[in-house]
Amino acid sequence: MPSLYVHVPFCLQKCDYCGFYSHSLKNSSPDLISVYLEGLEIEMAKRQKDTPPGVSSLFIGGGTPTILSERQLEGLLGMIQRYFPMNPEVEQTMEGNPGTITAGKARLIRDLGINRFSLGIQSFDDDLLRNVGRVHTAVKAREAIAHLRSAGFENLNLDLMFGLPGQGLQDWQASVEEALSYSPEHLSLYGLMLEEGTPLFEQYEVGNGINNTKGASLRKQSFRLEQKVEEGCLKTLPSEDQQAEMHEWAVRRLGMEGYRNYETSNFALPGYECRHNLGYWRGADYLGMGPGGVSCLNRMRWKNIEDVCAYKNLLSEGKSPIDETGQEELSLQECMAERMILGLRLESGVHLKEFEIDFGTDLRDIYRSVLERYKDTDIFIVEGEYFRLNPRYSFVANSILQEFV
Ligand code: SF4
Repeated sequence: MPSLYVHVPFCLQKCDYCGFYSHSLKNSSPDLISVYLEGLEIEMAKRQKDTPPGVSSLFIGGGTPTILSERQLEGLLGMIQRYFPMNPEVEQTMEGNPGTITAGKARLIRDLGINRFSLGIQSFDDDLLRNVGRVHTAVKAREAIAHLRSAGFENLNLDLMFGLPGQGLQDWQASVEEALSYSPEHLSLYGLMLEEGTPLFEQYEVGNGINNTKGASLRKQSFRLEQKVEEGCLKTLPSEDQQAEMHEWAVRRLGMEGYRNYETSNFALPGYECRHNLGYWRGADYLGMGPGGVSCLNRMRWKNIEDVCAYKNLLSEGKSPIDETGQEELSLQECMAERMILGLRLESGVHLKEFEIDFGTDLRDIYRSVLERYKDTDIFIVEGEYFRLNPRYSFVANSILQEFV
């Protein structure tokens, strides 16, 4: 049974660090959402026929799904249930952002079967939110939490970010403490990434070269940067050491409150681990629908085109919405490497027997040379049925994990 992901590619405004595919509704016609929903219905009708029956979990992400009106949300959730019926026990998550969640929307989506909500708070500090172009305020985040709890959501995830421009350890601690005061069942703590092509990347690339010729010429291209520099508000990014300190402090603090750091960036009270993401980290199949949606079934991976109108037009003409450049058949080696990289981010690690059943080989044989290189260290641990990473190295794990590629 695959898990189902539905991509809703709309946001109120693009955040400065965001590399995800989504349209800012400030710059697009609201009709685009209707076009999107029409295309999505055609895709669901088609995929339903080609997909094994049953859904192990549902995740409606984006973008900002809660930007849809109540009527549109009702249409979207009705459509999903029509083509991919799910019983109430199946984990059904919706993502959303403060400022787009009313009491009415929270009640509606809860009544229509969404039983887990993931809220993108990032910080309870308005200045820090502004530094990365987040459109909401801390007040809106508090309101959204209250609406979701009143609507009956008993499985709530809060997303927070560390490493924000201008953020110090105390700012980070204040946001984590406030998040804890709402007793969320799950917390996702992500470090800010400077992704190429985003305004934040450009600002800091230019900011770093501000006194050289390249900086000067790039500076001309960025009015916003000039403004920020003139106003003296291009904030310093926390160093890697400071980010590591923020992460380590949070791991300790959340541990004291009973949260398990079950994946590098994810923390849950017992029994509230995100089943949808666990499937993904353990190599299960998933079907992603909507423009930009990514799927992986039976070692075939594909991505839908990132263009709402073209997506809908192709589907209306009976054609595939898959981006041909984003379609690939994964080799056995690639699948094994992915299983290792994603599985070692989990506290539990990679299940030795499952790996052997899925790939016909013991991972300690296939990765003998990598393990040889680390044999005098305490980085990798075999414990019971699992092969895992020593949690002390989880913050620096990326470079080590690349060895499995
Ligand atoms: S709300 Fe999320 S998806 Fe939308 S622009 Fe910001 S980070 Fe990207």
